[in-house]
Amino acid sequence: MPIHFPRPTQATLVVEREPVAGTCPECSSAALRRYPVLAEDGWFEVVKCANCLYSVSREPGPKLGVIELLSDQL
Ligand SMILES: [Zn+2]
Repeated sequence: MPIHFPRPTQATLVVEREPVAGTCPECSSAALRRYPVLAEDGWFEVVKCANCLYSVSREPGPKLGVIELLSDQL
């Protein structure tokens, strides 16, 4: 007998993009966002301008990235 899993309520995993105070040095937009990204050398916490995608900062993040962040919410 097949096991039925409930349908996910979201089609894709949505990573929270946290608003950051400040303005973009490139386009002066205040739409800065902080979020984790997976790069070749691991997870990074980046702050990017949502308007022109300029990278304001890039810091090493938690090794497990989003997985660790989700477990913190349990
Ligand atoms: Zn910008």
